[in-house]
Amino acid sequence: MATFQPSRHNERMIPVEEAQERVLAEVEPLGTEQVAFTEAHGRVLREDVHARYDVPHGDNTAMDGYAVRADDIANPPVTLRVIENLPAGTVATKRVEPGTAIRIMTGALMPEGADTVAHVEITDAGSEKVQVLEPLRRGTNIRKRGEDMHAGDVVLVDGTPLHAAEVGVLAGVQKPVVRVGRRPTVAILSTGDEIIDVGDAMAPGKVLNSNSYSLAALVCEAGAIPRMIGIVPDTKEATIAAIESALESDFIISSGGVSVGAYDFVKDALDALGAETKFWQVAMKPGKPVVLSRVRGRLYFGLPGNPVSCMVSFLLFIAPAIRKAMGQTSNLLPPIVQTQVSASLKSRGDRRNYLRVRVVARDGELVSVPMTSQGSGVSTSMVQANGLVIVETGITAVEAGSIVPTVLVGPVQTF
Ligand code: AMP
Ligand code: MG
Repeated sequence: MATFQPSRHNERMIPVEEAQERVLAEVEPLGTEQVAFTEAHGRVLREDVHARYDVPHGDNTAMDGYAVRADDIANPPVTLRVIENLPAGTVATKRVEPGTAIRIMTGALMPEGADTVAHVEITDAGSEKVQVLEPLRRGTNIRKRGEDMHAGDVVLVDGTPLHAAEVGVLAGVQKPVVRVGRRPTVAILSTGDEIIDVGDAMAPGKVLNSNSYSLAALVCEAGAIPRMIGIVPDTKEATIAAIESALESDFIISSGGVSVGAYDFVKDALDALGAETKFWQVAMKPGKPVVLSRVRGRLYFGLPGNPVSCMVSFLLFIAPAIRKAMGQTSNLLPPIVQTQVSASLKSRGDRRNYLRVRVVARDGELVSVPMTSQGSGVSTSMVQANGLVIVETGITAVEAGSIVPTVLVGPVQTF
């Protein structure tokens, strides 16, 4: 007959911030690789990128209109002779002399002699001659050479995550191939004799494996590559074998089997493999049992089995680790913002609680709408949740309308 697990010595329950620090201290950026800039979206830049030219390449017009001399239009209305027509991408063959103008389209290089662009809206839009109806300060409507980038400037810094704007800048400096951090591979295993997989027949006492799939999706969202190890029976031997088969991956995540139940074998398996365990327990709810261990050089995260605890601990501890491994150097942890709760909240008060909410922008303020159920086994309570309201130890009730610290784990929603 199996017995409950004995409590471990040095089993200090550490605060969330300390756990996050200790996780990040264990992670080094992985190696780098070169990819086409068109494949770089979602990766982390691992070199400084310099501008190759001044952008814009020369002074050019920000508006459709007429390249003029500011002195010529100082006392409007004035009529100027239009001596050339200049679409974007062409270079003027003539010089703007007193009394003349060149018709010019947005983006075209400024012709010599002109110092100002009279936008078409303040003219009669003429083609042989143009009447300008308002004066302009010298330099109006001109984008200066190098206003965007100067040749040689660092325009993207090593460690920057590459989103849409960064990809645009890579294109803008003609950087066809770019050095990025390697994507970590993350092995995912789900422990539990009761766990059945998608497609298996439901039977009394069985629980569908949702964790492997939500974790795989979270791994992808963080930019890494999931490797599915599957369901592991609750025996020490099976757990050891599963961990051994996962050692090729950069990180290993398991769900379940880390509490003090008679069939929680993750810790025993890690001990048997000679793993160096960094912590067992974090002072939080959901997700108190969270294991961080180093096994044969790999970082191992043992997450609790409850679907909500599993996702919350991934977001707080593993997503930052993946970002760092990919080469990101700042903004590793999810941001904490102040939100106003739309309804009252209860907490046991025995541990810091992370309550699931939907953070919405209401009349310009961030409002947290609590999920109806806060049970750590209620997977549907994570649907649409993009925030975790922090309720500290000792606090058992939060009134509606209170301002509370909230971890943002997804984009703020509209309603
Ligand atoms: P454990 O942490 O192993 O004690 O599991 C806690 C709870 O989480 C149990 O009710 C399990 O049935 C549930 N659970 C464990 N693994 C999974 C999984 N892969 N998918 C969904 N629920 C799970
Ligand atoms: Mg279990």
